[in-house]
Parts: sequence; C-alpha cells; structure tokens
Amino acid sequence: MNIVLLGAPGAGKGTQAAKLVDEFGTPHISTGDMLRAAVKEGTPLGKKAKSYMDAGDLVPDDVIIGLVEERLQDPDTEKGFILDGFPRTSAQAVALDAELSKLERPLDAALLIDVDPEVIVKRLTSRRMCKDCGYIGTAADKTCPKCGGEMYQRDDDNEATVRNRLDVYEKSTAPLIDYYRGCDLLVSIDGDRDPNVVYEDVKQALSL
Ligand code: AMP
Repeated sequence: MNIVLLGAPGAGKGTQAAKLVDEFGTPHISTGDMLRAAVKEGTPLGKKAKSYMDAGDLVPDDVIIGLVEERLQDPDTEKGFILDGFPRTSAQAVALDAELSKLERPLDAALLIDVDPEVIVKRLTSRRMCKDCGYIGTAADKTCPKCGGEMYQRDDDNEATVRNRLDVYEKSTAPLIDYYRGCDLLVSIDGDRDPNVVYEDVKQALSL
C-alpha cells in the first residue's frame, strides 16, 4: 500500500497509521515525527525547523521535500509506505508525484480523516504522547498504557498554537483534498468516532 494520510492536525492520522503499522508492518513516514527527532537531537535541520514548529507554522517546502525524497530511497519503502503529515502544500504534492513517478511507485490512495475543527481543539489540548514509544494518549493517561513510559504534552499542543495550525491547515493543506479528488485517489472517512471504529472504516476504504 502506497498511501497519503490527509486531515487536520489531531484528526487521528498518527493513531490510524500506528494501527496500520501494527497490523501490516508498512513503514510509517511522519514528517512531524522526523522533525521532532531532529529537534531533540539538535541537528542543523532541527535547529532550522524548531521556531516554525513552535509557532505552528509550516517548515519551508525545500527542507521538508528533501527529507521525504531521501526517506523514500530507503529500501523498506519498496513494500509500501504510509505518508503522514506530508504533503501539506501544493508544492509538496507536486514534488511527491514527481518523486513517485521517478521511483515507479504510484500512490494507491489519499485517505482523508475528516474531523470538525472544534473537536480538534479539544482533542489536541488534551493530547499526551509517550516519550519512549510515541504512543498517542490523553491527559487521563498518567503513564503510557503501551510501554509504561512517561507521557508529555507537545509544545505545539497549546490552544493558541493549535488554532494557528488549524488556520494553516485550511489555507495551505485543505486544497490538497481537491487535488487528490481530481487524481481520483481521494477516499474520505468520518474521524469523529472511536479510533477502533474509524480503523475498520480505514481498512474498508483501502480495501485491506
Ligand atoms: P505534525 O506532527 O504532523 O502535526 O507536525 C508538527 C509540525 O511539524 C507542523 O506544525 C509543522 O511545523 C512541521 N511539519 C510537519 N510536516 C510538515 C510538512 N509536510 N511541511 C511543513 N511543515 C511540516
């Protein structure tokens, strides 16, 4: 499966990707996770990306496109990939098409996980993540239910930054819904339900 996950920040792309990885072992390419790792390691990329991420703005296209092109060269992606958080702009979508056509690995689907923005604000401000395994939980999870690790709140999950991220999504990323509809690749599911119920729909939408 070669798929792109679309949807606002907090729509559940990471949660659904984790379920697909658990069941099918397909590589999960999350540009947000890659950037957070670079920030943590203090690499030049991380230093460049941090201020954009803290403000909830997009990291410049040239930085992120190069990162994904490089990752798609890794042999594990030959059996498929789940792109999460990329593309986020038209320029990124066009660059992805060019790279995938060069690699002769066309997309099978762009899956939109659709959630109302106000639901997203509530979800993200109470979202917590595991420092060790990346498990995505809520403020109710004092320790990670998966590995017992420490849970933390992402720097960009405060309300002001979340609202900016949603504005950025509407302006720069939502137009990709029409882009992928035009390519006849768009499948859409209602993400405002229990994650396990959403997952059943995800598999049906992707014919898995
Ligand atoms: P995410 O974990 O996908 O919500 O991404 C967190 C942050 O990383 C975003 O708010 C952006 O600052 C940055 N980011 C992640 N993916 C991209 C992308 N494809 N293009 C530009 N910035 C990105």
